[in-house]
Amino acid sequence: MPEPGIYVLRLSHRRERDKRITTHVMLTARAFGARGVFYSGDEDPKMEEKVRDVVARWGGPFEVRYEPNWLAFMRRWKEGGGFICHLTMYGLHIDDCLSEVPRDRPVLVVVGSEKVPRVVYELADLNVAIGHQPHSEVAALAIFLDRLFSGAELKREFQGAKLKIIPSRRGKRVIRLGEQ
Ligand code: SAM
Repeated sequence: MPEPGIYVLRLSHRRERDKRITTHVMLTARAFGARGVFYSGDEDPKMEEKVRDVVARWGGPFEVRYEPNWLAFMRRWKEGGGFICHLTMYGLHIDDCLSEVPRDRPVLVVVGSEKVPRVVYELADLNVAIGHQPHSEVAALAIFLDRLFSGAELKREFQGAKLKIIPSRRGKRVIRLGEQ
C-alpha cells in the first residue's frame, strides 16, 4: 500500500480514442498534487512515456502505472486500508462531503471515461459530484484536487525539476535549474 496521499485511477483507457484526454488526466493529477496515477483498459506505453518525460523535465515525484485488473486493484486498495473516492455527477455535492476525505490515509480518486460499472459506485467510500451536470474527467479531477488542497498545490515545488518557469506578464521565461 502506498504512503498517505492522493492517487488517481483512470478507468477504461482506449488507446486511440482517449490518448489525449487520459494524458491530460495524468498531467492534471501531477500538476494538482497527486502522487501518482494508475490506469486500466488498453495498455499504452507511448502515453506513459509522454507523462514520464514531463516528470523528468518538470519534476516529481509522480508515478504512472498500468493496472490491468482495476476491480481487484480497488478491492486490494480497500483491504490495505486505503480510501476510495469516485468522481461522478450522480454523487454527493463536493461541498457536502469533502470533509469526509481522510488526510492520513492513501486516497484513490477514480475517474471514468465511458459508462462506469455499478460496482465502482458500491466499492467507493464516497461518490463525489463536482456539480450535478455532465462535463469532463479532467475538469472534475482539477476541481476536486484544488478544493482538497485549498489551492496550495499550485505553489508546490517539484523535486528534481530541470526546468522552472519565471512568471512574467508577457512572453515566456524558463530557466534550466543549476544554470541560474
Ligand atoms: N457517461 C459516463 C457515466 O455515466 O458514467 C460518464 C462519462 S464522463 C465524460 C467521464 C468521467 O468524467 C466520469 O466517469 C466522471 O469521473 C467525470 N465526471 C464528469 N462529470 C462529472 C461531474 N459532474 N462530477 C464528477 N465527475 C464528473
